[in-house]
Amino acid sequence: MARPKNVKYIFVTGGVISSLGKGILSASLGMLLKSRGLRVAIQKYDPYINVDPGTMSPYQHGEVYVTDDGAETDLDLGHYERFLDESTSQTSNLTMGRVYKSVIDKERNGDYLGATVQVVPHVIDEIKDRMAEQAKNGNLDVLITEIGGTIGDIESLPFLEAMRQMKLEMGDGNLVNIHLTFVPYIKAASELKTKPTQHSVKMLLGVGIQPDILVCRSEKQLSLEIKNKVGHFCNLNEQDVIGLSDCETIYEVPLMLLQEKLDLRVLKKLGLKGFKAPALDYWQEFCNKVKYPKDGEVTIGICGKYTEYPDAYKSIIESFIHAGASNNVKVNVRLLRAEDAELETFSFAKELNGVHGILVAPGFGDRGIEGKIRYIQYAREQNIPFLGICLGMQCATIEFGRNVCGMPDANSTEFNKRARFSVIDLMEHQKKVKEKGGSMRLGSYPCIITEGSKAHAVYQKFLVNERHRHRYEFNNDYRKNFEENGMIFSGTSPNGELVEIVELKNHRWFVAVQFHPELKSRVQKVHPLFHGFVAAAKDFLCSERDMSVEMPSFIPVSPQTTP
Ligand code: GLN
Repeated sequence: MARPKNVKYIFVTGGVISSLGKGILSASLGMLLKSRGLRVAIQKYDPYINVDPGTMSPYQHGEVYVTDDGAETDLDLGHYERFLDESTSQTSNLTMGRVYKSVIDKERNGDYLGATVQVVPHVIDEIKDRMAEQAKNGNLDVLITEIGGTIGDIESLPFLEAMRQMKLEMGDGNLVNIHLTFVPYIKAASELKTKPTQHSVKMLLGVGIQPDILVCRSEKQLSLEIKNKVGHFCNLNEQDVIGLSDCETIYEVPLMLLQEKLDLRVLKKLGLKGFKAPALDYWQEFCNKVKYPKDGEVTIGICGKYTEYPDAYKSIIESFIHAGASNNVKVNVRLLRAEDAELETFSFAKELNGVHGILVAPGFGDRGIEGKIRYIQYAREQNIPFLGICLGMQCATIEFGRNVCGMPDANSTEFNKRARFSVIDLMEHQKKVKEKGGSMRLGSYPCIITEGSKAHAVYQKFLVNERHRHRYEFNNDYRKNFEENGMIFSGTSPNGELVEIVELKNHRWFVAVQFHPELKSRVQKVHPLFHGFVAAAKDFLCSERDMSVEMPSFIPVSPQTTP
């Protein structure tokens, strides 16, 4: 497939160790180039064989990020959207599984008739074709591709070979490789060590790639001397060795890279001239608000079952940073293990001491469900600001059914197929679905909002579009009963069939949503629900201070026996 003319390519690879922040680097560079006036898109290439991460456990992969058009993707796409303020799509995350699947489908189809199908050229050509396709989408100046994994992994070799071939085919000034490495600081020697970076570059050279720019992550700032040394051993001018030392918030990374002139080096190498200097006052202001909040701190408890692994709640945690800035507070996040709350001896008052809002997180499967329901009961009864997301909303309706509407075994059919009161149930068309991959209600759907509700107060709109990822829905058989008991159905699908938002009368702030607002919060557009929730937590903190009383103690009651 012919590549579109005038599109320039940036590949971001990583070396030495994983988790250095290739996603943040790609997102930051994209944001810098965009603010100079370039049209930029970012995509992620993942070396694993899964077609997408939708079927992977959050322990393996962290959060699954969902795009407007319903792709289940890598969490780095969340960083791209938050930094760049551009939406990604189905084609923004290519896995090796997808590449192989397509090649094998073509082989079965007879498209390669007569040929022995091989990694070179067929798999590599498939990758290059996808790249050309992506470059054609959407009027681009620059396409940034982040390659997952670390140099030396067997799985990512075809992606690197595709990059090598493209660089050769396109000639100078069209493609740059930015290699992100680690320069460890050895305390005993009081020294930054460059050897791992040199080895990592050697490994890249071994597959035929000379990196154009090195970005070196380190605990301490890289001196000119170290930059010279790294450049000397890695065939680079010291200007192309960029230091990226640890910072307080990831949102400072673009500002640090700007200072190190990464964007200028990239523009020079790609022969892009005449682009204005970026105006980043708003970004600096945002970072200042994150680092030096004027109005103190609030603490939000996130109740979930992957609490040892915060990456499972990446977008939620980032949304709280945005909402903290928009409310002039620092939001401390306390991860609450749902299962702990299932013990009769568990003390909510103790666990939630100093917590000003409770969020019950999305999830799948029955582990920790009863604990989540108890946290919700506590938030409802103690008038603590509450936000439920997806499974969190489903649990909120189960809790309300059991403890307010007198349905002792109210449940979701996900957890109990024979529950007498299945307040959460499979949608009719989901009942026939057998395949697990990509078969949920996925992507953006419209939601109509009721005037006078808390949802309307935060959104200030009657129609919103939000992203979904779930199979189960609120069962409309129970709507009337719930309404009579004080639940407000403040958001539904336009035809009124699907419940999207519920809230409670007589509660300071209790809102639960079937969709995932966290996937749409951005630095420049804090999500209204997160903003409203943090504002409610801030009010709650102030009212607590005013009354200066201890939180009332509470003895949890078994949900099965509560009237
Ligand atoms: N397990 C629930 C469902 O499939 C909720 C999913 C979620 O929280 N994303 O409907």
